[in-house]
Amino acid sequence: MAVDLHVHSAASDGTDAPAVVMAKADAAGLRAIALTDHDTLSGIAAARTAAVGLAIELVPGVELSVDHAGAKIHMLAYFVEPTPGPLQDRLAMLRAGRADRNVVIVERLNQLGYSLTMDDVLRHAGGDAVGRPHIADALVEAGYLDNRSEAFVSLLGDGGRAYVERTRLTATEAIRLTTESGGVTSIAHPLTINVDGPSLRGIFEELRETGLSGIEAYYSEHPPAIRSQLAEVASDLGLVATGGSDYHGSGKPDLHIGSGRGDLTIPDTALEELVARRP
Ligand code: AMP
Ligand code: ZN
Ligand code: FE
Ligand code: FE
Repeated sequence: MAVDLHVHSAASDGTDAPAVVMAKADAAGLRAIALTDHDTLSGIAAARTAAVGLAIELVPGVELSVDHAGAKIHMLAYFVEPTPGPLQDRLAMLRAGRADRNVVIVERLNQLGYSLTMDDVLRHAGGDAVGRPHIADALVEAGYLDNRSEAFVSLLGDGGRAYVERTRLTATEAIRLTTESGGVTSIAHPLTINVDGPSLRGIFEELRETGLSGIEAYYSEHPPAIRSQLAEVASDLGLVATGGSDYHGSGKPDLHIGSGRGDLTIPDTALEELVARRP
């Protein structure tokens, strides 16, 4: 059976409530999904409650934005519970960093002539991890743009006119904190890391030494040939080839839980191998 180990809910920047995410994943016939909201575990309790009546397993998770020698990497952490713990405590600091950054981004946008307030932004957020997608939603609602993606092109994206840095963990810190919290890590959508092939492999090897468990080979936006190549690299390096859709509800149109753009299947052995690596 298939799984999906990268899914967002309205606890961060997805648009479906956690219970709706679980119902859709169950309807898609998946054996398990990992809820991996950005910087928050606040959707886990509701997702778990919803899973009780369904034939689907929930893996608690979170997606982190980390830095490694100047490269920006997204790191998925699995089997981290919404209870106090080393990673969990750090997530609260990361969310505070988001709140500070959002205020600066809104000020920047105001200076650029876009009229919007933090309240406009917060109306689009369903949880405690507010970010650029919600600012994009507010810009769309005000009629400045047509969709989230347009807001990232010249305004909110890296190097955009209203781009503001935020505090990030290093990859090594994220892996260590996750291990100390009983979890395992996988590098999300490796192709979005802005380095060449040999450097990418070098990053996998370096982070494997600090306890990295996997790389997300089966990703919805990776072409099928790339998925196979990354799965082979994972196997070469003794890492788990994980996979996920990065479902965001209507935040990423035409992207489905489990099947991505229609051609994605993630084997449940990926989850079994991650379970075997729990500290
Ligand atoms: P933030 O968490 O505030 O740093 O915003 C980053 C998030 O915005 C990513 O994790 C994606 O979910 C979303 N995002 C990034 N680029 C785009 C894009 N081009 N279109 C739509 N959403 C995007
Ligand atoms: Zn997101
Ligand atoms: Fe990501
Ligand atoms: Fe994601």
